Amino acid sequence: MTSTVQLSRDQRAVLANLLQARLLGLEQKRELQLQGQSQAVSARQTLLQDADDAGQRSGEHELEGIVGDIDSGEFQAISDALQRVHRADYGLCVQCQEAIPFERLLIEPQALRCAGCQALHERRAKLGLT
Ligand SMILES: [Zn+2]
Repeated sequence: MTSTVQLSRDQRAVLANLLQARLLGLEQKRELQLQGQSQAVSARQTLLQDADDAGQRSGEHELEGIVGDIDSGEFQAISDALQRVHRADYGLCVQCQEAIPFERLLIEPQALRCAGCQALHERRAKLGLT
């Protein structure tokens, strides 16, 4: 399969479903995290009311681990991709303008770059060049 073939309407529909499912998943995760956050706050308040106790302190530590940061960057990338999925420029690498292979989009439907450009981009980002 050549990588310059444009996505078919069916392929776009598959990717749109995928993006929608992921967005929903992230929304659910976000909701769970918000619930977890308020639970953690009230749990911490309970802990703070008690005297110093090593066991309870480690319990507090565990709660902090559960309440991680919400990956809003991923959320944004997926909702952006959902807006673009039926447009002609969706599935084209923003860097080299080559079509991103459908197989890659199935794994990462919000991908903006082909695998080669993405690897380069990440290497540059790591070096602080972007
Ligand atoms: Zn590229």
